[in-house]
Amino acid sequence: MVLCSILMVSGLSYFELSKATNDNAVARIDRAAHAAVTILSTGTGNVVRPVFNAEGNPLALKGNSDEFPFSDGKKLDRLIAVIGETNQGAARLFKWSPSARSFEQVVHSSHTAENSDTSAAPLNRKHPAFAILKKGAPFVGNVPVENRLRLAYLTPILSDKGQVVGAIEIDVGWMDDLTAAENRLQARILTAAIAIIAGAMLAGYLFLRRELNPLRQLASTADELANGKQPVHVPHADRQDEIGDLAHGLDRVTDLQDKLHKLAYIDQVTTAGNRARYFADLNDALKRSRSGSFGASLLHFDFNGFSKINDTFGQQVGNRVLLQTYVRLANVFGPSAQIARISADDFCILLPYDSDGATAESCAKRALELLAAPFKLDEAEIRVEPCIGIALLPRDAEDAETAHRVAGLALREAKATDGSGYAFFASHFNERIQTEMLMETLLRAALKTRKLVLHYQPQICPRSRTLTGLEALIRWPSEKRGFIPPSEFIPIAEKTGLILDLGQYVLEEACKQAARWTKAGFEFNQVSVNVSPLQFRQPSFAENVKNVLEWYRLPADKLCLEVTENVFVDTSEQTVHDILSKLQNIGVQLSLDDFGSGYSSLIYLHRLPFKELKIDRAFLSGADRTEQKEQLFHAIVGLGRSLGLRVVAEGAETDGEFALASALGCDSVQGFYFSAAVPAENLPSRLLEIAHAPAKELTARSKRPA
Ligand code: C2E
Ligand code: CA
Ligand code: CA
Repeated sequence: MVLCSILMVSGLSYFELSKATNDNAVARIDRAAHAAVTILSTGTGNVVRPVFNAEGNPLALKGNSDEFPFSDGKKLDRLIAVIGETNQGAARLFKWSPSARSFEQVVHSSHTAENSDTSAAPLNRKHPAFAILKKGAPFVGNVPVENRLRLAYLTPILSDKGQVVGAIEIDVGWMDDLTAAENRLQARILTAAIAIIAGAMLAGYLFLRRELNPLRQLASTADELANGKQPVHVPHADRQDEIGDLAHGLDRVTDLQDKLHKLAYIDQVTTAGNRARYFADLNDALKRSRSGSFGASLLHFDFNGFSKINDTFGQQVGNRVLLQTYVRLANVFGPSAQIARISADDFCILLPYDSDGATAESCAKRALELLAAPFKLDEAEIRVEPCIGIALLPRDAEDAETAHRVAGLALREAKATDGSGYAFFASHFNERIQTEMLMETLLRAALKTRKLVLHYQPQICPRSRTLTGLEALIRWPSEKRGFIPPSEFIPIAEKTGLILDLGQYVLEEACKQAARWTKAGFEFNQVSVNVSPLQFRQPSFAENVKNVLEWYRLPADKLCLEVTENVFVDTSEQTVHDILSKLQNIGVQLSLDDFGSGYSSLIYLHRLPFKELKIDRAFLSGADRTEQKEQLFHAIVGLGRSLGLRVVAEGAETDGEFALASALGCDSVQGFYFSAAVPAENLPSRLLEIAHAPAKELTARSKRPA
């Protein structure tokens, strides 16, 4: 645009200037002709009088007679010389020669400057002015002289009758000289125009550069933003113009990006990193460890029973505990650690440059120590039970997914073993997990093809030796191994969630069998079914139990559900209470299994609608031999009885154990002393044996499960 205007202005001035030079030449020859005619007419004593047109240019010189009016040769010479000098060109006077039919030169200026014309050539019909002069009109234009052109003004001299009798020619110089001058001027204009354009362009460039500099800076800031870099400062935000507006906009985008970044990478509850941050950091750490000798340790924290805090005190309190946990962890691990909360109560920490794990171990110990101190909140003092799995990178894993998995395996180990609360990953964890995975696949298939069977272990009243109840225990028949014990596959089923299908299968099979027995007139109080915590927590569990009872038309009180104290892990007492109440309303019996092996909170027993207490077999085994154990067993039986519960002693194997359970007033005894769990069809004969055989025989036979 700017360039176009400059070009237009230059072109226009070039045009105007060259027009001015042209006008200049025309004005000069007009003035010269005017002067010449005036000089000649006045200098000769008015023998001629000049005739001018409206613009004052001479049209002719008119004499007083029929003759050529000039006669005084000397005077004429001088006048023509004066004319020649005045106009700095040449001047010639011609007389019409009728015989030669040409204008013959009478005098000419003797001026010998470079511009003067000294030729004495007449003007004949070839001369460009001849025809015009002959008509009595003046001629202005180029006339050929010595093969060049001169700009000349020829004025006719007329007789008093208007006959052409001569002519006066004045010229102002060589035409090519005039054009050369004009060309020179034009060349100068052109050079000047080019110089102006170049100057304007340079000035424009410098100006634009200066003006665009802030834009360039803002563009590079925007570039940084786009590359995910956080520019510390957006320049020019203090300006009041459009650049300032732009900078403001960019500033707002920076803020927004900052917020988005926080949302995308920061855990809102604790301000620690979130899962995305954790995996990004983990990938970075592994990349660094691959390219150099840098190592890192990955610590995976988890808290046993954390969701119970949420259930009991509400999520807000849970969040405060998490926040304080993060603060404690940050104190222990320092600024070089990258801490992230990756799910509800899982924290993952990356510690740099720790190839032998010594730092990780000392930090883990310190963190366990610090986290053992209760969190003092307004509502209560809350304790958490942390466990830590540690993986060393790149020793244990080279990619993020594996690193996270192996740290998880180490965490599982730390949870499974009662010990320090932390565990380093070891390669055999991998083998174990593979075995577990294989077992899961096989178990899934066995469940689908209904290969799993139930055996029933009788519970006997020690006084009457009659059957009180039966516990359904699952069995997995294997060609190679006989029966795979539930202790091997129930934990896997629980880990993988398969326990839900498995539990449903057992519930249905046990109810079906119990209904069959009832129909057959077989007398028993109830069939007990073990319920795993995961199954118990299912929102539809109670509804489902009701449906199964209806399907098989089994009276609800013929079913007893056994839960262990593990149902309290991760679930508040209130929730457990609600579920138990629903079950109680259906009419099923409820039994607290393995009492004494876990939390053993007496409060549960007191507040919850249990009907039966099963004392963990560890209490009875050997209780008849040590006084302390016997007293403990005694106390628990007493407690159960005082709460009005049916007390079942589990794991009675010997005469002594049976006698003790019987003497302390247990309502039922379940154990190899009477019988191991047997298939349903073997049960009637086994019960007959129990009813009639002497005690010694029973003891000997019951050692081996049927
Ligand atoms: P539990 O519920 O405490 O079951 C009693 C376990 O003690 C049974 O082991 C039984 O065979 C064993 N037992 C009975 N009398 C004696 C004895 O005199 N001496 C000894 N040493 N042991 C005795 P089992 O059948 O191997 O079951 C182990 C555990 O597996 C059960 O412990 C229960 O927690 C779980 N389980 C078994 N069946 C199921 C089921 O259908 N569902 C669920 N969720 N868990 C089950
Ligand atoms: Ca049980
Ligand atoms: Ca038990």
